[in-house]
Amino acid sequence: MPPLLFHDVRVFDGHGVRPRTSVLVDGGRIAAIGDHVPAAGADVVPGAGRTLLPGLIDAHVHLTLPGLRHGFAFGVTTQLDMFADPLVLRAVRAEAARGGPVSDLRSAGIGATAPGGHPAQLVHHGLFGPFPTLAAPSEAPSFVAARVAEGSDYLKVFASSVPGEGHRPSLTADAVAALVAAAHEHGLLAVVHATDVRSALAAVRAGADGLAHLPFDRPPGPEFAAELAARDVFVVPTLTVLESFCGRPGAAEPAEARVLDAAALATLSTPMAPAAADGYAAGYAAGMVAPLARAGVCVLAGTDAGAPGTAHGLSLHRELGLLVAAGLTPQAALTAATAAPARRFGLADRGEIAVGKRADLVLVAGDPLTDIHATRRLVAVCREGVLHEVGAG
Ligand SMILES: [Zn+2]
Repeated sequence: MPPLLFHDVRVFDGHGVRPRTSVLVDGGRIAAIGDHVPAAGADVVPGAGRTLLPGLIDAHVHLTLPGLRHGFAFGVTTQLDMFADPLVLRAVRAEAARGGPVSDLRSAGIGATAPGGHPAQLVHHGLFGPFPTLAAPSEAPSFVAARVAEGSDYLKVFASSVPGEGHRPSLTADAVAALVAAAHEHGLLAVVHATDVRSALAAVRAGADGLAHLPFDRPPGPEFAAELAARDVFVVPTLTVLESFCGRPGAAEPAEARVLDAAALATLSTPMAPAAADGYAAGYAAGMVAPLARAGVCVLAGTDAGAPGTAHGLSLHRELGLLVAAGLTPQAALTAATAAPARRFGLADRGEIAVGKRADLVLVAGDPLTDIHATRRLVAVCREGVLHEVGAG
């Protein structure tokens, strides 16, 4: 395969911007960056009027085989799964390993919840097979050891149910703490689902590394940002799915809809709930994003793709728009979808445009640093140096 030269292109490297430079890709890696890189024999991709970004990372999805293809087609080259049925996961991992125009992934595998707790109700919807749960904190070590044996890359813990579910059982604070401790014993991150402020704060105080959603039952008060910042906890706001919880599903432009299939479009256009549950509002979470960022809390872009109201890949572009509307600069939102998740999840080979990094890249028309919606104007997506044309930017 000849080297690839992105010529005279604006580069967002995961942190900052170079208005105009060139990027040489060779052997699946970024080989050189600069105005005069050696480019003899390279295939040249013109960069004028375009922006080159690290491949996008969605830090909260639930993967399916189609989701792996759809994600990639929208520039999401790595998806971080936050609960998967082991059988589905095996198929998805095999597909990702074959290469081609599909995302790479990491996965929590089975998440930890109480017997009958969220998301056990989804078994009845046919989304998962039955899965093991925890009845007592003392079961945490064996639960986590079983996930490690299955190949989980990190631990997902459900510290609350979801609004509108009535009285579904959930893990006690002691069980959450025991799970976090067991995850850390194995060197795994513990990423916690909590949709109310009280459960989220309890999980953070128990040592959770990250929150898989922002809580949205009330404005959290200033101690929330201070506590998360002091403990260096990351948050994945998932404003996209919180909107869906409040009756607002996603939507696709005609050109975007053509990338998805009928099932994905049906999921995208169906809200998680017809209206917000009593007392809940997505705006509480959105209102927290800027204060958290100001306090120094690491914000990661994630969507809960796979859930009603979302679509793999496409929804990450909506999330970026929602994060900017919530007060992040476009540059901060793009870091939240590239360098920041790579760093927090230990993916040292990606998330930045730097020499030696994996050549997972996205080329878009226009400048997403001034207009975040430009990320939707995809021209091409590169996986390990292989270029796939995806649109007409
Ligand atoms: Zn989820």
